[in-house]
Amino acid sequence: MNPPSTSIRQRLTLWYAAVLLFLLACVSVGAYAFVRSSLERTLITQMNRDIDTVATVLAAEPASEGPEGHLPGNIIFRAMEGAHVAYHSSAWCGHQHAQGSSEDATGLEGAWHSIRGEAYRMKVASLSIGAHHYRVTIAENSTALEDTLRALLQVLLIILPCTVLLAILGGYFLAGRALSPLSAMASKAQEITADSLSERLPIPNPSDELGRMAAVFNSTLARLEASFERLRTFTANTSHELRTPLTVLRSVGEVALQQPLDAESARDAIGSMLEEVDRLTRLVECLLALARAESGFRSTGEDLELGALVSPILDMMRVLAEEKHQELVFEQTGPVRARGDAATLRQALTNLVDNAIRYTPEGGHIQVRVLAQVDGTPVAEVEDDGPGIPEADRARIFERFYRVQDEGSQGTGLGLAIARSAVEASGGRLECEASASGGCLFRIRWVKG
Ligand code: ADP
Repeated sequence: MNPPSTSIRQRLTLWYAAVLLFLLACVSVGAYAFVRSSLERTLITQMNRDIDTVATVLAAEPASEGPEGHLPGNIIFRAMEGAHVAYHSSAWCGHQHAQGSSEDATGLEGAWHSIRGEAYRMKVASLSIGAHHYRVTIAENSTALEDTLRALLQVLLIILPCTVLLAILGGYFLAGRALSPLSAMASKAQEITADSLSERLPIPNPSDELGRMAAVFNSTLARLEASFERLRTFTANTSHELRTPLTVLRSVGEVALQQPLDAESARDAIGSMLEEVDRLTRLVECLLALARAESGFRSTGEDLELGALVSPILDMMRVLAEEKHQELVFEQTGPVRARGDAATLRQALTNLVDNAIRYTPEGGHIQVRVLAQVDGTPVAEVEDDGPGIPEADRARIFERFYRVQDEGSQGTGLGLAIARSAVEASGGRLECEASASGGCLFRIRWVKG
């Protein structure tokens, strides 16, 4: 069976009350024991003093002649010699101690209540005076001691439950006050859905524990909101990009169906349709590459020699550059090593070189460099002397589907987004700046540590 569920407020209050009850009980028992032992010690001291006084008196008194002798005085005592009472004080007779005494037969202390209801403590001592051996019983009135202890016990028994009750009420109230921001946060958090991610939890006091928790939750909400926003934009852009070639395909098909076509026109229509299919295929491939680059295959990677990674890419791309009569140069000062995933880095570098070839006019120059910075940071650069990218656009070119010149461009606007994700997955950073010739300089830099 599951334990009954209790709220934090109830649990806090119960713990608080239990700890307080335990502490108060300890203090009460201690206080009672202390008062009792100090009062009893005073009484015993008094009785010992009385025994000394009785010993002095017995030593000074001649031996009793009768069956028992009477000694004046306030001390309540009786002295037995063997089985008969040798002496007793007048006070002993007055208080009629002999009757009903619970005097300990072993001669130790005992307690006794007189007929008038007064409490007495008794102490028995053996005294040897000359040839006489007495067994002296001393009685001391302990009514005041008993009354004091009883009153103390009553006070403690009243104070203890009252204090605990007050503590429970106070604790419950205080716990409720302390936890009230939590209830407010919980009900606010319950209201937040995917459509209202811009809302935030209230933070009554940012410096306390609950405030810090709310702040952390709010920053998580902010990240979620940004991710949702990116996802929304991405979905909208993707739909837009897919719709254009699909619309073209449809209209080319419809036009072709509406009129009888000769072989030439049919070939043209099919050619146009294949062009759009190519565009669609490219787009889907880019989307797949982007999904792969962003799916978090971030690994510690392998130890790579950047020159060996770049050379085969350039060999493959050189054909494209030659078609445009461009010069594609590779520069490397020495072996440069970096950690990363070879396949993703290859993808990033291919996209950068492909862009340089596509956007640099015929006869242009493209340089690919691999070098180590002064502090040893490995760097790979792709520089061209093409038209460059205006400064205002440079900050946005890594966004998905962002294109600087849209008209006539066969691009998808995803190449640089893929390159950046791939570089970051290998622990690097991709930057863009204007080259000395006014073209573009893309730099992959490995972040230290
Ligand atoms: P696309 O598929 O359109 O090339 P990218 O993400 O690769 O998409 O590039 C985004 C935009 O950045 C391109 O539309 C282009 O305008 C610009 N761009 C990228 N590389 C270069 C370059 N080397 N020179 C000039 N413009 C560039």
